[in-house]
Amino acid sequence: MSNLPKELLSSLEGAAGFDAAAFKAVHASGRQVTSVRMNPAKWEEGGWPQEMWGEQVLVESVPWSSRGYYLSERPSFTFDPLFHAGVYYVQEASSMYLEEALRQTADLSQPLRVLDLCAAPGGKSTLIRSVLSKDSLLVSNEVIRSRAGILQENMIKWGAAGVVVTNNDPADLGKLKDFFDVIVVDAPCSGSGLFRREPEAIGEWSLDNVQLCHQRQQRILADIWPALRKDGILIYSTCSYSKEEDEEILDWMIDELQAAGCRLQSDPSWHIVESRSKKDGYGYRFYPDKLKGEGFFIAAVRKEDGGTFTYPKSKRQGIEKLSRKESEDLKRWIREGEALGFFRHEDTVRALPEALVEDLSYLQSFCYLKKAGVLLGKPSIKEFIPDHELALSTVISQQLPAIELSRDEAIEYLRKEEIRAEQAARGWSLVRHQGQNLGWVKVLPNRVNNYYPKEWRILKRL
Ligand code: SAM
Repeated sequence: MSNLPKELLSSLEGAAGFDAAAFKAVHASGRQVTSVRMNPAKWEEGGWPQEMWGEQVLVESVPWSSRGYYLSERPSFTFDPLFHAGVYYVQEASSMYLEEALRQTADLSQPLRVLDLCAAPGGKSTLIRSVLSKDSLLVSNEVIRSRAGILQENMIKWGAAGVVVTNNDPADLGKLKDFFDVIVVDAPCSGSGLFRREPEAIGEWSLDNVQLCHQRQQRILADIWPALRKDGILIYSTCSYSKEEDEEILDWMIDELQAAGCRLQSDPSWHIVESRSKKDGYGYRFYPDKLKGEGFFIAAVRKEDGGTFTYPKSKRQGIEKLSRKESEDLKRWIREGEALGFFRHEDTVRALPEALVEDLSYLQSFCYLKKAGVLLGKPSIKEFIPDHELALSTVISQQLPAIELSRDEAIEYLRKEEIRAEQAARGWSLVRHQGQNLGWVKVLPNRVNNYYPKEWRILKRL
C-alpha cells in the first residue's frame, strides 16, 4: 500500500483525469522510469542512441519529445564520460512536453528572447536551448545562489553559445520591460508529482505548504509579467498535482494579469489529460498511472496587453570588444563559419553570437551575470590559456589537437588523475571519448598536466 497523504488524495477528487485507485496503485508499485534527452548539437541529428547504452539497456522514444528516450535500466551516469561531455541530460519524461508547448505557441524559426526564470539545475534550459534558432537568446536564471552554480555547470556542458546565466530575483528581471518573447516559469512547488520517484518527500508534504507555494507562485508571476512583450507567451509548469498550484494559478493569471489561455494539441495515444480551468484556461496534467512519466502540470498563456521592446539610446555600454587583431588570433580556436562577437571581461575573453551582443549589454545593467556566452580563455604574454568552457562548447574548432581516450582512461581524466599520452604533440590538447570533448590537457616533455576543473572531478569510487 502507498502512504500518500490522505489530504492530498481527497483534495484531488474532481481534478481532471484523477483516478484514485490507479493513482494509489502506481505509487505502491515502486516502478521507476529513467529517461534522457540527447543534445542535438553534440549527438548526430536523428541518430538512434541505442549503441551508446550497450545491449543490456533498451532504448525507446519518449512520444512527445524529438530527442527524449526511455532507458530500460538506470546506468551509472557518473561513470559515463559522455554524460560529463554534455551529450545528454537526464530528464524526467513528462517535463519534456515543454518542447511541444514551445513549438505550438512560438515561432521557433525566428530569433527569440527567451527567459527560463526558475532554471536550476537546467533541465528545461537545456531543452529550450536545443529548440531555439541560433540567433535566439536564452537567459537561464536561478535565484538561489548555491543552485545557480549547478545551473551554470550544466549549461557549460550543454555547450551552446547563446546562453546567459543569471542569479537574480524575479523582481530584478521584471525590470526588463517588454524584453522577452517567451518566459518559462517552472515554479517551485509542493512537489507531489515526484512522490513515486522520491517517496521520502511524502512526509514533508502538507496542505499549508501547498498554500504557501500558491502564494509564492503568484508573487513570482506578478514580478516577471512586465518583462513579457505584447503577444508574448508565458509557459507555466509545476510538478504538483494540487489544483491550488495549477488551474487556480492559471485562473489567477487570467483574472489578475489579463492573460489569455492557449490550447495545446496532443496525440490521444499520449494520455495527457486536458483540464479546463474555471476561467477557460487550458492546463495539461500528467499522471504516472496514465503515461510513462512523473506527475507534471503545464499551461501556456498569451499576454494581450503590454508593449514591444526598443533599445534605449546608449547601446553596447560596458562591453569591451576585442581589436580586430585580437579577434583574428582567437579564430584558430573557433569552428569556421561561427558569427561570434568577442569581448573582454576582466582578464578573460568570451564569445557570444554577434546578434546577441546588444542584448548582453542591456541585460548586464539589470542582472548579475554568472555566465555570458562562452568563456574562451585568458590571453597572456606567453600564450592563450584555453578555458574548460571552450572545450565543451559547440563553437570550438574541429581542427585542434586531440587525444582519444578509452572509457577507463576518460574516467581517470575526469577524476583529475594523471593521464599518459606518449605520442601526443606538446602543448594544449583536447581529450575526447568517442569523439566528444571532455576537457584540456597540456602535454609537457615529461608529463601531461590535467586541466579538468577540480570542483567538477568525479570523487565517487566504483
Ligand atoms: N526548471 C528546473 C529544471 O527543469 O531543471 C527546475 C526548477 S525547480 C522546479 C524550481 C526552481 O525555482 C528551483 O531551482 C528553486 O531554487 C527556484 N526558486 C525557489 N524560490 C524561488 C523564488 N521565490 N523565485 C524564483 N525561483 C525560485
